[in-house]
Amino acid sequence: LNLKAILFIADGMADRPLKELDWKTPLEAARKPILNRIARTGICGIIDPIAPGIPPGSDTSTLAMLGYDPLRVYSGRGALEAVGSGVKVLPGDVALRCNLATVDENLVVLDRRAGRIANEDAFELVESLQRIKLKNPKNVEFYLKNTVQHRGALVLHGSDFSTAVSDSDPETAGKKVLEIKPLDKSPEAKRTAAILNELSQEFHKVLSKHPVNMARDKHRLPPANMVLFRGAGTIPKILPLEKVFGIKAVCVAAVSLIRGVCKVAGMDLIDVKGATGTPQTDYMAKARAAVKALKEHDFVFLHVKATDVAGHDGNFKLKVEIVEKIDAMLGYVLDNVDLDSTILAVTADHTTSCVTKNHEGDPVPVAITGPYVRTDDVAEFGERTCAMGGLNRLRGVDLMHILMNLCGRVQKFGA
Ligand SMILES: [Zn+2]
Repeated sequence: LNLKAILFIADGMADRPLKELDWKTPLEAARKPILNRIARTGICGIIDPIAPGIPPGSDTSTLAMLGYDPLRVYSGRGALEAVGSGVKVLPGDVALRCNLATVDENLVVLDRRAGRIANEDAFELVESLQRIKLKNPKNVEFYLKNTVQHRGALVLHGSDFSTAVSDSDPETAGKKVLEIKPLDKSPEAKRTAAILNELSQEFHKVLSKHPVNMARDKHRLPPANMVLFRGAGTIPKILPLEKVFGIKAVCVAAVSLIRGVCKVAGMDLIDVKGATGTPQTDYMAKARAAVKALKEHDFVFLHVKATDVAGHDGNFKLKVEIVEKIDAMLGYVLDNVDLDSTILAVTADHTTSCVTKNHEGDPVPVAITGPYVRTDDVAEFGERTCAMGGLNRLRGVDLMHILMNLCGRVQKFGA
């Protein structure tokens, strides 16, 4: 047996029942013939991505769903996001997420996104910061890259850095930029905090006088006069999927955090025109890309962000619509892959509640269909129906082994 597999993840698709939907969840309320078909022809269950009652991050959950125990290997969001946006992060480097922001003369944050600054302005500002030379300690190599609008990544390159440092980003406007502090007693943490505080000051100095900001001021746009840091991380030390399961794996995802996780797992990344990581993404283009990628690979990780976006906005109507678009997209996948040699799994990376507008610790539904799968009686894909299925209740980290075993790619334990 040597089958291929597609793992489809709808970010934050799972939800809680809502009064406005007659106490159904958005997934339960949606018209979803294909998802139901996958449930009916497959084996269903529910998954605790991390552990029962623990709200997962998208990064920790994705690590788990790929078979890596996040409690052992997770090393912060910063490096994953940087890697996913095309920044090189080497072992030993520390990476942080950055925001170009607007502060007043007392360093109080007025706008964490500098008016969602345009890419061209952000690029020019960030380029000038790259030329700064640090005095103390000397010769620290850093690399600053802006990705989209106000967002970016900072990489400290070399050794003797630590991720045990606090953020400078106060996370809300109206608060002062925070001093970065070491979070343990190691000399590395102290050194890293000192470097970041100096960079923060130097960046502010250069940005405050920058011609781009003068021009923004003239046009009554908020100046991007500060870079806020958060989420210091390193790349997790994990074996690539090729080593673990002997598979050639590929990722079809738009958001950089997910792409970063897949990249450190040794997967190929595919850029899809029209894939945006928003509700307006080109769903069918992603489905086509996944089907095409399966020809050259053993495993395709297909990810859609939009469900999570709707959840965070509390927009349950939009979430229902997105589930219906996902359903159509999976219809294309089913119609265009060889169902005699492909395992298809569908799940979510966590619950994003339209009521709390946050990630929650409720388990997520999962359905796996394909040849020789031990089907059960579940005929509808939903949070509650799947709980009655043959997979019962799993941890996220178990899913990949189950899929790979169905594909004939897991070694026997023992003699
Ligand atoms: Zn997520």
